[in-house]
This record gives sequence, C-alpha cells and structure tokens, in this order.
Amino acid sequence: MHELSIVKDIFSTLEEHYKTRVEDIAKIEITAGLLSNVQPVLIQNAFDAFIIEHQKYRQMELEVVVQDIVAHCQECNRDFKVEYHRFVCSCGTPSTTIVQGNELYISKVSIKQS
Ligand SMILES: [Zn+2]
Repeated sequence: MHELSIVKDIFSTLEEHYKTRVEDIAKIEITAGLLSNVQPVLIQNAFDAFIIEHQKYRQMELEVVVQDIVAHCQECNRDFKVEYHRFVCSCGTPSTTIVQGNELYISKVSIKQS
C-alpha cells in the first residue's frame, strides 16, 4: 500500500515535469536511502502493477538504487557509514546526525531515443 502511493507520487511528479513526453520515458531510476523505509522489491512490484494498469507506460523500466546510511561524528569531525543500524563511529562515539540515508527521489530519467 505504502509503496503504491509512492509509485503514484512518482508518476504525478513525472507527468508534471514532462507533460506529454512522459510516454517517451524509457527508464527511471529512484534513489532510496536505507532509512527511507522503502523496500526495493516492493516498490518494483508496485511499479509493475501500476504500468500494467496504465498501457502508455507499459515499456517503462525502473531501477531502484539503495543508498547507505551515513552519519557524522562530532568527535572526529568526519562521516561514517552506518552498518546494521549501529549509529556508532569507529572511535566509539554514538551519533544521531544523519548525513545520508533518508532520501527518496527520482535520480535519473532516460528518454527513448527516436
Ligand atoms: Zn568518531
């Protein structure tokens, strides 16, 4: 359910930006941070269901790029990658300053070559 509304949002954004040319889009790429609560498989399923219902988008492809969580350590003044939801820097300092991982956006749109 959640994923389907995301897919609908994506298409309304595309329709707004590309107007009639939406049908010329061959492929879209979505970047989803690990904290954005988006499951790539579920979003792919929702996308497939959507394009089956909307004939004009039948040929469109989707790629979901998953982005790691990156937090910032105040002690070392550097960014570190968060693995297994462990928000602790290698120096031992915990951090809740998220630099990357919350995002969900359309990162690439490829138009059909004609
Ligand atoms: Zn540190």
